[in-house]
Amino acid sequence: MENPLFIYNTLKRNKVPFIPLNAPHVGMYVCGPTVYGDGHLGHARPAITFDILFRYLTHLGYKVRYVRNITDVGHLEHDADEGEDKIAKKARLERLEPMEVVQHYLNRYHKAMEALNVLPPSIEPHASGHIIEQIEYIKKIFDAGYAYESEGSVYFDVEKYNADHHYGKLSGRNIEELLNTTRDLDGQSEKRRSFDFALWKKAAPEHIMRWPSPWSDGFPGWHLECSAMGTKYLGEEFDIHGGGMDLLFPHHECEIAQSVAAQGHETVRYWMHNNMITINGQKMGKSLGNFITLDEFFTGNHPLLQQAYSPMTIRFFILQAHYRSTVDFSNEALQASEKAYNRLMEGWNNLAKITPSATSTIDVKELRNKCYEAMNDDLSTPIVISHLFDGVRIINTVLAGNATLSQADLDELRETMRMFMFDILGLVESKQADNNGNEAYAKAIELLLDIRRDAKARKDWATSDLIRDRLGEIGFELKDTKEGTEWKLK
Ligand code: ZN
Repeated sequence: MENPLFIYNTLKRNKVPFIPLNAPHVGMYVCGPTVYGDGHLGHARPAITFDILFRYLTHLGYKVRYVRNITDVGHLEHDADEGEDKIAKKARLERLEPMEVVQHYLNRYHKAMEALNVLPPSIEPHASGHIIEQIEYIKKIFDAGYAYESEGSVYFDVEKYNADHHYGKLSGRNIEELLNTTRDLDGQSEKRRSFDFALWKKAAPEHIMRWPSPWSDGFPGWHLECSAMGTKYLGEEFDIHGGGMDLLFPHHECEIAQSVAAQGHETVRYWMHNNMITINGQKMGKSLGNFITLDEFFTGNHPLLQQAYSPMTIRFFILQAHYRSTVDFSNEALQASEKAYNRLMEGWNNLAKITPSATSTIDVKELRNKCYEAMNDDLSTPIVISHLFDGVRIINTVLAGNATLSQADLDELRETMRMFMFDILGLVESKQADNNGNEAYAKAIELLLDIRRDAKARKDWATSDLIRDRLGEIGFELKDTKEGTEWKLK
């Protein structure tokens, strides 16, 4: 292709051409969810961002191995290295096995991702299933001299590492700054320095998620799982590591330090980060009362929501912003997205109504190139969407009789729009998406309405009325208009 894909590499602080290590193979690792609660918008954004990248790389012909992990151990209550494991706490409160908690929320997460039309990754490894690999990784860091043991726990020696390498290169922080911003140790801590982070934690007697290790019965530190699983499935060096910007420090910074300490070199070639989501201008948080789960968006069942928003409205809304920009959710913004999305789909459906002419009086050939240019410019989905609306304008102009398209140009327009709307942006074709994201069901209703329309055309009133009445019994309300039949669930 003429202009190659450029992506923003956080480490280089610049857009750089994407050149895979072993083309056509691409290794891609994305930090997945921690599963002790329902998925919310914060989960949707990285999932959709890296779904776009996954889809686009695949579209370009790369064979992508996409690894998205499940954090099911080692996420502690108080941020860094202290407090109860969040999953263990939930298990204790709900009297469940920790893995029951994990499975329950993982099932719900998968359901929400499917509704959002996020493709499943190639491998979805659990941290709890890779304890051996994590212990082996710690041993390497230990052997290299960058870890120390303290009362059964193992910590990464940030100061020692920083003397030999540069700790803070991804986030742009330095160790002096960290000394000033992290709280002082009170002398009771096992750690030498406040910024040292746990590789292995000795489990307190009441801690139920524990495994044997050379140092103690315990569990791995959170940052370790991604280093261990990324290396296991993608190799000592691989192409892309992504995640939300909130993971940039300390999580990804620590991953770099771990890999350099263990292997002598970095693992990741391109670091990519999506920006965060705010709700009505505020950060999302349980204490702020603006914590809205994906299910609540899909059903409208939250005091801040004026209506339900279909998964496709949420997806489209997220794609209307560049992944490195912040996104602010509000009812007004979502309603505007819903309208725009419906307009785009209407344009797509109208495409079928165009009758080709002998010649074209309007140019459609530039559209495909422009869409590629936008995607190649660090996945600029808002620009792609604006080009797709140019396509809708062409369709409307032709339908209004103000321009004509030849069969070849009509095919070109249809193929360009199909490719970018469905294959690459992952939107779902629908006339009326229902609130559960069940597009097949909407299509089945449309099919019945098509049969009813044909029956009416034949003056077969018995069949036409039968379909209306039976759909009415099931709970659908039909309204015949000049444009066709509208339907909704009563
Ligand atoms: Zn991670």
